[in-house]
Amino acid sequence: MADVPLRPTLYRHPHGITAVDAEYLYPGHAAAHIIHDAGRAAFVDVGANSSVPYLLGALAELGIAREAVDYLLLTHVHLDHAGGAGALMRELPNARAVLHPRGAPHMIDPAKLIAGSQAVYGEVRFRRLYGELLPIAAERVQVVGDGERVRLGGRTLELIHTPGHAQHHYAVVDEAHASIFTGDTFGISYRALDTEQGAFITPSTVPTQFDPEQHIASIDRMLQFRPESMYLMHFSRVTDVPRLAGMLKEQITELARIARVAAGAPDRATRIRADMLALWLALARRHGCRLSDAEIERALAGDLTLNTQGLIAWLGRTGQKAVNS
Ligand SMILES: [Zn+2]
Repeated sequence: MADVPLRPTLYRHPHGITAVDAEYLYPGHAAAHIIHDAGRAAFVDVGANSSVPYLLGALAELGIAREAVDYLLLTHVHLDHAGGAGALMRELPNARAVLHPRGAPHMIDPAKLIAGSQAVYGEVRFRRLYGELLPIAAERVQVVGDGERVRLGGRTLELIHTPGHAQHHYAVVDEAHASIFTGDTFGISYRALDTEQGAFITPSTVPTQFDPEQHIASIDRMLQFRPESMYLMHFSRVTDVPRLAGMLKEQITELARIARVAAGAPDRATRIRADMLALWLALARRHGCRLSDAEIERALAGDLTLNTQGLIAWLGRTGQKAVNS
């Protein structure tokens, strides 16, 4: 039930920013963020329907009235980010859902989103993960162009279009606080893979719109703001941004190469997954990770599967033929 708040796990960050564990799949996997400024609040991404009670619990714990939430800033409409938006909107009378022009129609009428997601997850798993997607009334949806700004309490947030993970992706730039909320455009960084060298990071090349050139261009564009903190959905705050950006860009190029090399093989999915795992194990070792190979594979298993599917979709879309190197 969406209206019974559950006790959330919160991570308090600087500048009125709080991460809420969305409890999607398992704790430590997905974080929705709350920005609180001068009595007003916004969510950046919200998780799935099952996340909504934790988000309402977070508002209660932070002492934020539901009426004080002005925005749901939905970086893109993948369901681990926006699946709970329709249900959450019903609890937040003054909120508007802010979306990329190409994402907005899918929140107003989720039929295509449901069909697309069922194609990736299968119908049974889809229903278990996401339940029933509730539409958002068109008059509560605000469509934002590239570079548009929204005002939240005393701060201004700039929304920049960042294609590459998905065509309809935007990032939320909080320039005054050197922070960017990156959705999935700055990859995935599980705290379980942190070492004394800092955070480990991997790109998310999931279906159906991964595009390596656009993705790298979007990372470069975010770097132009000289951010000190990136807030990822998977999993929240990272610093040391230039190093992580380098890691991401190298991997995007390498994963695209791995996919092209395997393109003509009958067992290409198996090969792509195996090469991706080998790449990540080597990078994790270089990073000083002390987990066993099996533990690292377990931490990244979901991403190995979805990234492989996304790379195959990319090959299909771009008509990539097999290459030798
Ligand atoms: Zn995504």
